[in-house]
Amino acid sequence: MSEAQQKILYVEDNPDNQRLVQRIMGARGYLVLIAEDGPEGVALARETLPTIVLVDLGIPGLDGYETTTRLRSMPHLRDVPIVALTADSSPGARERALVAGCDGYIVKPIDARQLPQLVAEFIDGRRDKVAAPAVEVDLLRAYSQRLVERLELRVRELSAANAELQELDRLKGQFLSSLSHELRTPLTALMGYLELFDRGMLGELSEPQRDAVVVMRRSSETLAQQLNNLLYFQELRGRALNLRALRPTEALRPLMAAMQERARAQGLAFDIQAGDALPMLADGEAFEQLARSLLDNALKFTARGGRVRLTVHDEPSRLILRIEDTGQGIEKEHLQKIFLPFYRVETPQAFIQPGSGLGLAIARHIVEAHGGQITVRSTPGRGSTFTVVLPRTSAP
Ligand code: ADP
Repeated sequence: MSEAQQKILYVEDNPDNQRLVQRIMGARGYLVLIAEDGPEGVALARETLPTIVLVDLGIPGLDGYETTTRLRSMPHLRDVPIVALTADSSPGARERALVAGCDGYIVKPIDARQLPQLVAEFIDGRRDKVAAPAVEVDLLRAYSQRLVERLELRVRELSAANAELQELDRLKGQFLSSLSHELRTPLTALMGYLELFDRGMLGELSEPQRDAVVVMRRSSETLAQQLNNLLYFQELRGRALNLRALRPTEALRPLMAAMQERARAQGLAFDIQAGDALPMLADGEAFEQLARSLLDNALKFTARGGRVRLTVHDEPSRLILRIEDTGQGIEKEHLQKIFLPFYRVETPQAFIQPGSGLGLAIARHIVEAHGGQITVRSTPGRGSTFTVVLPRTSAP
């Protein structure tokens, strides 16, 4: 291998040292790859085969000794020299580095004349060893004890951090639930009065007033839908399915009527292809929520002039719901992530749509709780199809 191709992996967090080594060794034709910490060094070592590794022992986190031990365990680095580069010149420091897996020990400050010479020696096969085997055994024992102590400390820190996160998550859930309840009460009154206005029960309205009431009703329904999603999501974990025999098409009838009206108002064609499906065991409220989330999205992400179709296929062992739209579609990279809670595709168009990113997370939970599956196919600019397959556990 020519010298120009030789690679030095340097694990060091200090920028001055990084620059210095890069300058000294770069001038000799080496390629110096810098890793800021141990895990980055391990990742770089995995991707590239360095000719030599220089490790600063004082790096934070996974320290230089541990990084060396980790690098030593990688089979492709078996013959690659790992040399400690450190300011620690205390008695025993060199031996401690050697038992951790280093092949040599260079004390800082870095000497610009000596470093290339030392690096060349290690590349040529120099391997330093601890002088006495008995000393090595003692040092190894002390090193492994220190590793276990550090591990124990980390486990304790992680357990404490995990407990704190769980408590914060519980508090967040509690806060979201009480916030949604608090907001829902006044919103219900508001929607009730708007309906009375809309029906003319509080006196005749002028044309502009009627238009304004329509806008207010639509906005408050959106808000109510968002709050429902939030509440539903918060309560998902503790909610047991309330299974009963229901006729799918019948159960969805009120929702269909509301969606049909909404589609008309949005200038969308809305077809339903659903015969009289046989009864099946399902949670009625959850079933409606599932269809609502999927239809709400289909209507939300399809522009005026488009088409949304709901198909219910009735099979002896399963029920298949298909919701198709001719809307904006979803790029491939987002297709799996959209089922994660709070995930929304950030396009300028999606931005102006109301939503919390919970609809599909709820839908997936409901489908899986019924032992079913939900899948999506989509072509950006052409539309999306969500397919739900629910096993027909038993038909009473
Ligand atoms: P929300 O609709 O409240 O944002 P969802 O969980 O229902 O949350 O959906 C997550 C994201 O998936 C949406 O923000 C949107 O980007 C994308 N998405 C879902 N359904 C469709 C659809 N029919 N057409 C295009 N994009 C969709």
